[in-house]
Amino acid sequence: MAKFRIEFKRNECIGAGPCAAVDPEDFEISPNDGKADLKGGKEEGGLWVKEIVADSADKAMQAVDVCPVAIISVKKIQD
Ligand code: SF4
Repeated sequence: MAKFRIEFKRNECIGAGPCAAVDPEDFEISPNDGKADLKGGKEEGGLWVKEIVADSADKAMQAVDVCPVAIISVKKIQD
């Protein structure tokens, strides 16, 4: 299985929400400030990151596509 790394600039999130609609396994809207949270992610120098092991990262890639401010990225880090 491949390994992917999701990176998310939470401080730039405008809370539009479609990421959580297309990829609820990785994103949810915080009831506290209305921004997205990267579920199971951790903060690294202001960036939220999460590694996933899966056959594909199709849903996370959809989140990349639907974010209106382009603050989500997904990279394959291992085949
Ligand atoms: S789609 Fe982008 S701006 Fe909207 S909640 Fe998700 S990360 Fe934030």
